[in-house]
Amino acid sequence: MARPRHIPDRRCVACGNQFPKHELHRVVRTPDGLVMVDPSGKRAGRGAYLCKSLGCWERGVSRAGLERSLGVSISGDTRNEIMDYYHRVVAGQSLVEG
Ligand SMILES: [Zn+2]
Repeated sequence: MARPRHIPDRRCVACGNQFPKHELHRVVRTPDGLVMVDPSGKRAGRGAYLCKSLGCWERGVSRAGLERSLGVSISGDTRNEIMDYYHRVVAGQSLVEG
């Protein structure tokens, strides 16, 4: 079976698995050097992707995943903001789907 040709999947920086882009969440390093979740997926800057798994978000912010992908160090405040986003938005979406 030939694989259908389409836009390449993106890779979660924590687990390394590939997912369709719409199933991933983009974290961006802005030109100002800020790191934030980018719900629109369109913010200017260097992006990295995380899948919906809580473990991947925790690993992404606490280990080198996001920092290595974005080439920037992530402060404790930023980690908290990213995890807050996960709990408010990503975890909420999973509940809605169920
Ligand atoms: Zn993942």
